[in-house]
Amino acid sequence: ALQAGIVGLPNVGKSTLFNALVENGKAQAANFPFCTIEPNVGIVQVEDPRLAVLSSISGSKDLIPATVEFVDIAGLVKGASKGEGMGNQFLTNIRNTDAICQVVRCFEDDDIVHVAGKVDPLDDIDVINLELALADLEVISKRQERLRKGKKAADQAEKDELELAALDKIQVAIEAGKGARTAPLTKDEAVAVKGLGLLTLKPLIYAANVTEDDLADQGANNTHVQALRKRAAEEGVQVVVVSAKVEAELNELPKEEAKEWLESLGVTDGGLSSLVRATYSTLGLQTYFTTGEKETRAWTIRKGMTAPQAAGVIHTDFEKGFIRAETIAFNDFVKNKGYTGSKEAGSLRLEGKEYVVQEGDVLLFRFNV
Ligand code: GDP
Repeated sequence: ALQAGIVGLPNVGKSTLFNALVENGKAQAANFPFCTIEPNVGIVQVEDPRLAVLSSISGSKDLIPATVEFVDIAGLVKGASKGEGMGNQFLTNIRNTDAICQVVRCFEDDDIVHVAGKVDPLDDIDVINLELALADLEVISKRQERLRKGKKAADQAEKDELELAALDKIQVAIEAGKGARTAPLTKDEAVAVKGLGLLTLKPLIYAANVTEDDLADQGANNTHVQALRKRAAEEGVQVVVVSAKVEAELNELPKEEAKEWLESLGVTDGGLSSLVRATYSTLGLQTYFTTGEKETRAWTIRKGMTAPQAAGVIHTDFEKGFIRAETIAFNDFVKNKGYTGSKEAGSLRLEGKEYVVQEGDVLLFRFNV
């Protein structure tokens, strides 16, 4: 499964947020079979109102949401790239993730010490992004050295040239303080450097951690959030406003009380589900559905996957023996109240091997065994 790493300076609310994500997952885990959680890995459900709609049409017994994994990555401090703190371990952990969720402290609280002495999101971001960039530069220079060394067969030389060209572009971007993800790589170049696990190449989200008062207006009156949004817009990075503390406290409350409290705050949740959804989409993931009397289920695929590849997510046999996918767009399925209605209305399409699955498709696979 794809994983997002939660990073940030000490005391910004990472653990609080991670625990809230995990507790929330546990609370809803009743019909969810894969909930084995390692201490720092949490499997989190992606809330999706479409599931309930489909399951009521199909009369499904079970309802199984998509999930995404979060990893709590502690230990990022100034100097981490030079091995300060838990430096190297930290870098290894983060290298293994597919996206980064950077928690940024946007709440004031004199009782909670800030490592730099004051709350300043832009400073915090700079410290973290610099550590990630320095770690990347080290990987890049080692790799360049290796690629430039020695004689090689013609096809290998060509591959190496491609990778070197990509590394040059990335180096320029990083040295300009912008991170590898802003480098204008071609598709082939992006593939060539994928294995290096460059940290600033990973998709990024900023989670602005705020107090309860800032939830209703999404931090519009919080100067820290405003500054963060401005910076994020320049970087092309998404900001999600969340209150780790509210989410943690919600998990402690009985359902009714939790609901009342949220209503008094003028919100429907503390931002957690927005964060999960944003992460899912930042990871390049999308959902298709299967639905029937037994269950309605959301399946996770990468954007651009074909119908056989999507079938393979359910079972490898489905991919190998793929014949066709009976396909109905979500809206058509709802409008026509299910399979039979959609078929009669001509909204059921028979799609073949080349079909690229679309967000929200309701699929039924036909395959040879
Ligand atoms: P980490 O070091 O980044 O993992 O930070 P923690 O999650 O341990 O949080 C550090 C402290 O900040 C804890 O005492 C939290 O209760 C507190 N904290 C986290 N989020 C908030 C928040 O939104 N508002 C306030 N006032 N305190 C928070």
